Amino acid sequence: MNAAVQTPEPTASATDFKDDRQVDLSLLVRGYEVVIGFETHSQLSTQSKIFSRASTAFGAEANTQACAVDLALPGTLPVMNKGAVERAIQFGLAINAKVAPRSIFARKNYFYPDLPKGYQISQFEIPVVQGGSVEFLLGDVKKSVRLVRAHLEEDAGKSLHEDFIGQSGIDLNRAGTPLLEIVTEPDMRSSAEAVAYAKELHKIVTWIGICDGNMQEGSFRCDANVSVRKPGAKFGTRREIKNLNSFKFMQQAIDYEVRWQIEQIEDGHTIEQATVLFNPDTGETRAMRTKEDAADYRYFPDPDLPPLVIADEWVARVRTEMTELPRVMATRFMTDYGLSEYDATQLTQSKATAGYFEEAAKASGQAKFASNWVTGELARRLNAQDLSITESPVSSAVLAKMLSRIADGTISNNAAKQAFDALWVGEGSDVDAVIESKGLKQMSDTGELEAIIDSVLASNAKSVEEYKAGNAKAFNALVGQAMKATKGKGNPAQVNELLKQKLG
Ligand code: ADP
Ligand code: MG
Repeated sequence: MNAAVQTPEPTASATDFKDDRQVDLSLLVRGYEVVIGFETHSQLSTQSKIFSRASTAFGAEANTQACAVDLALPGTLPVMNKGAVERAIQFGLAINAKVAPRSIFARKNYFYPDLPKGYQISQFEIPVVQGGSVEFLLGDVKKSVRLVRAHLEEDAGKSLHEDFIGQSGIDLNRAGTPLLEIVTEPDMRSSAEAVAYAKELHKIVTWIGICDGNMQEGSFRCDANVSVRKPGAKFGTRREIKNLNSFKFMQQAIDYEVRWQIEQIEDGHTIEQATVLFNPDTGETRAMRTKEDAADYRYFPDPDLPPLVIADEWVARVRTEMTELPRVMATRFMTDYGLSEYDATQLTQSKATAGYFEEAAKASGQAKFASNWVTGELARRLNAQDLSITESPVSSAVLAKMLSRIADGTISNNAAKQAFDALWVGEGSDVDAVIESKGLKQMSDTGELEAIIDSVLASNAKSVEEYKAGNAKAFNALVGQAMKATKGKGNPAQVNELLKQKLG
């Protein structure tokens, strides 16, 4: 007999959510505490489906990529995709969770036109990833959202409404696509925190490469469970906002939902558990159906699939192959390069940004400059043109060369900005050639500088007198005059030095 049909050991009940966070009075909305928990469906980046060899490629002609297994036609048997399991393990390790040595696939029974087989294969009592947490910064406050679980499941097909009048089309290409459903404790206390959590989670799954993160194509879909309560009261009844596929809508939807729930309660109504949809055109949420209970789904272990057994050695191997995670990398940037936590966090927003920074820092030996330029001048220009860092017209190697030229005194910071502009628009790609052709070199010939300073001192006798009488400000005025006389090309440190000598 197949082991999967034995009764699985129960884990913590799904309704046993943690309620042990301190109330933050500054976050109350009209006297109510907001409580949010997330369920996120993250599409795993495997080539083939979770239980079949059909392709998962997006955008194919309707119904060309669902095979007999995906449709559970009689006589077919599902076979677990090892790549999907490997990605679940990677996720578990990334968030410090327990990877279950043995987990169970269950059938979640319901009928919907996009699920003609009548059940979804998912994990219920014993999921593959248990516990763990996601850490992130909200402004400069450290937050940690605990995860309940992450489980493997298959996606359903899609209903198409656009091309049909009075009818719906069904495209089953997506049926059987592997998903990791990631469920949090109800730990979040504001829409801003919820969005920051979702962004961090998105960063983690794309960083470790288990999901392409494309929200428009539905590769990363968030459901926000929202309730409100008076501080100190038990959890309120939640409503679940489905399928939020942009961070902007996420915030709008939660804010609207919170206002709506508070108004209902203030008007003497009770909140009914429901599934709601957000309409971006009206900015409102609307109930789609009252919520089913787990019991409605008649979950039972899938008799076609044995328990998913993951040996310790497999987890250990995945651990050694894991890429360095963003929080770990940020900490390393702080210790290795002396960066602030804020800068280190900015630089680890994406793997590409972190890589660009580190190449520039290493090649120039100027980590602090590199950090300032990547988060400042470079980020500003990329944003303005809506470019990603991989599309930057100035490579990390070229930036590094330029930073070396600031460091060795060839150009000033201001001149560097002009050089960067020229490199950006492709007026040249060799840093030294651009500095030369634009005449950006700092004046480092002391003879030439000295002559300029002498003439500045001669024509600013009044400032010289004031300085000698003890007016420190007069010195700054003389520096200003001297820099002006060099047309900004004087090395400020040298100008200062020479002036001091001469006024000595
Ligand atoms: P379901 O499958 O019925 O949606 P789950 O147990 O999978 O339920 O997930 C419920 C989600 O709702 C979790 O993310 C949890 O943190 C969140 N949640 C539970 N209770 C509340 C509540 N009172 N307010 C807000 N969120 C909640
Ligand atoms: Mg759910």
